[in-house]
Amino acid sequence: MNTEADILISRTVKAEAARLGFCACGLAPAAPVDAAHAAYVRRWLAAGCQGEMDYLARRLELRLDPRQLVPGARTVVAVALPYAPTAALRPDGYALARYALGRDYHDVVRERLRRLMAALGLHEDADGRPFCDTAPVDERYWAVRCGLGWTGRNRQLVVPGYGSYVFLGELVLCRPADAYDVPLAPRCGGCRRCLDACPAGALTADGLDARRCLSYLTIEQRGPLPPGTGARMGRCIYGCDRCAEACLWNARLAHAADPAFEPSPALRAMTAAQWHALSPEDYRALFRGSAVRRAKYEGLLRNIRAVEAAAAPPAEADAP
Ligand code: SF4
Ligand code: SF4
Repeated sequence: MNTEADILISRTVKAEAARLGFCACGLAPAAPVDAAHAAYVRRWLAAGCQGEMDYLARRLELRLDPRQLVPGARTVVAVALPYAPTAALRPDGYALARYALGRDYHDVVRERLRRLMAALGLHEDADGRPFCDTAPVDERYWAVRCGLGWTGRNRQLVVPGYGSYVFLGELVLCRPADAYDVPLAPRCGGCRRCLDACPAGALTADGLDARRCLSYLTIEQRGPLPPGTGARMGRCIYGCDRCAEACLWNARLAHAADPAFEPSPALRAMTAAQWHALSPEDYRALFRGSAVRRAKYEGLLRNIRAVEAAAAPPAEADAP
């Protein structure tokens, strides 16, 4: 039997989360994801939309039920941390997806989740575990289930007032709560701006086909890019923000960016010539503690070359 001291007080959890800089926080009972969502995930994987991200299909039973990930789990606490940086890179250099400009979000969010557990008097492993994109947790499902926002047609979580420029994290805790949140109704209405903005045709009414998405191709996929990818990338050499930039919920963000996610002066100063001459040592120094390490040096260079090749005038023999 749970004593009063064992019960999470929803109001306290949310107040501590806000104090730590999370812009949204909600709670839901730890339970299997609902049948409709489980069927959608299975359909999406069976169609191969995950591309080479095989880890999404592995340990699926854990992804579909957090109680299998954390035995004894009673409550999922979902949080969102806003990241939209205010500083940009040189317009005559290259762009990177906004989320990748500052510190690696995995480290920042997990560290804050640990602080949240400590503030609530909870101990990692004994009382539950923090997660941020490193374990089979269906993060967007839980963010929606905990009432943080809704899944937009660009397949990103949209948080009222904060748009989709948010990182997600979860605590899966072995304690019940005094109150749970309910999902928000989707507010995309008849809008299709993100679908129309996607240069790769990766978004459909059925969701995202990662195999076409520039974010997947430029970060997750190893080896050569499919033909025509460079021309779709514009000047962005890591990820893609086009469907987020198109969203009106991202147009007027009132919040101040978290300093952890601002680009370093060295990254801001990079010229096109410096990008072209980037050595493995430069890459390591520029992206120490950054999510960009995921693409690896070879991947980033491949992306730069693809953008440059697409921008180059045709060779004389090919010219009209
Ligand atoms: S990230 Fe880019 S390529 Fe991927 S769905 Fe959005 S707009 Fe399309
Ligand atoms: S651009 Fe429109 S359809 Fe897409 S997520 Fe935003 S509101 Fe929804």
